[in-house]
Amino acid sequence: MANYKCKSVGIIGSGIQGICSGLQLIKKGIPVTVFDRYDPLSSEFKSASYGNAGHFSPYAVLQFNRPDILYDVPKMLFSSNGPLALKWGYVPKMTQWFLHYLKNCNKKSMLYTAKYMHQILNLSIDSYEEIFREIDTTNLVEKKGIIYVWTNQNLKSRNLEIKVRRDLGIEQKLLTQKEILELEPNLSPVFDSGVIFESAMHAKDPHGILKEIFKLFLKKGGKFIKEDIKSLKQISESETVIKSENREYSFEKTVIASGAFSKNLTDQLGEKIPLDTERGYHVHFKDMAHLISRPVIFLDRGFGMTPMNQGLRAVGTVELGGLKNPISKKRIGYVIKCAKELLPQLKEHEDEWLGFRPTLPDFLPILGPSLKNKNIIYAFGHHHLGWTLGAVTGKIVSGIVADEKTNLDLSPYSSSRFK
Ligand SMILES: Cc1cc2nc3c(=O)[nH]c(=O)nc-3n(C[C@H](O)[C@H](O)[C@H](O)COP(=O)(O)OP(=O)(O)OC[C@H]3O[C@@H](n4cnc5c(N)ncnc54)[C@H](O)[C@@H]3O)c2cc1C
Repeated sequence: MANYKCKSVGIIGSGIQGICSGLQLIKKGIPVTVFDRYDPLSSEFKSASYGNAGHFSPYAVLQFNRPDILYDVPKMLFSSNGPLALKWGYVPKMTQWFLHYLKNCNKKSMLYTAKYMHQILNLSIDSYEEIFREIDTTNLVEKKGIIYVWTNQNLKSRNLEIKVRRDLGIEQKLLTQKEILELEPNLSPVFDSGVIFESAMHAKDPHGILKEIFKLFLKKGGKFIKEDIKSLKQISESETVIKSENREYSFEKTVIASGAFSKNLTDQLGEKIPLDTERGYHVHFKDMAHLISRPVIFLDRGFGMTPMNQGLRAVGTVELGGLKNPISKKRIGYVIKCAKELLPQLKEHEDEWLGFRPTLPDFLPILGPSLKNKNIIYAFGHHHLGWTLGAVTGKIVSGIVADEKTNLDLSPYSSSRFK
């Protein structure tokens, strides 16, 4: 085994970024301890990595920092019945985020984000396949592609998405309404056309997959401690300290993989990183997963449905409202309404869930060392694509921790862009 310099690593967060980073570090022979306030094997674990839509979406290079969307934002915000909502009381707390967002909401930045999302998305599936060879994915992963449908209302935006993907060489097959209905005959024909990403796959139970990866991490010698981490510090070039309410833990290096909650920790390190959250929701329709064969996303509505083991999971909306506001019944109502528009046969729902997408205003994650504390490494901010990017993040982050060389250009993911 190679002789790595790093002697020990603590990771804060057992979401998909933390667990995959832990696994890759353990595989390099580096002792790792993962901390989380919830045990990933327990039913109290409800992080974003638990409740997402389960899409492995290597094609999703375009994000929300795009000028065509910006013009629609005010209209969407003032409609209580659209895909985007605001908790108005939270708006002042997002000032920095909005200012950075506006700076990054132009064609040049949009294409920059697309290019560097593509760089890592392109490696995302191979990175998972490597892990899947070591765990039992029976009844957990399905490869039937992913369909997006839309109406003719925003064709300019749809054409832009198709062109950017085409320019990046991403495989996509455009579909007419008839072709979509042949693939998914139960859908109500309320859309005009769409696209299928035929090689995309989906999780039938994201939490189930996370648990399997976590068990592999433990089997290989990784440690887990259930603790709510209150603070962290770099003591010297060879020591970082993580503190909970009652205990202190010392490691050579520490990784912050705390999803949308990472800002609580990076603020302590004196870095003003404008991380915030895009809140999203899901509900399940039990015993209804058979109604579709693969995930279907209705782009005009900002929502989608995934057939899962727990039932048909209807997922979506973006709500800007921070980490503390309670679940919004209006948003749940919106998701249910959208699901019934596409599948009128749906009846009662269950499991109302609110999750926190960790989002930076240029829609790129932060992967790399803290600017002021080189032994503290950041791995957060994966917004709508953190599930897809978990395995590749693990590879990148473990490489950074182990001081390995890489052919990837990691500079776009540095927190220095917000200095
Ligand atoms: C509605 C919705 C749908 C989505 N659908 C998709 C999709 O289809 N495909 C896709 O690629 N992505 C999707 N995403 C995004 C994806 O789920 C997230 O980007 C990803 O799960 C983030 O992973 P993470 O490990 O960074 O954070 P998390 O999964 O949030 O994990 C962070 C962990 O850190 C722990 N933690 C935080 N602070 C502390 C602390 N101080 N002490 C101890 N523990 C701490 C938390 O308890 C949590 O378990 C979706 C997200 C949402 C909300």
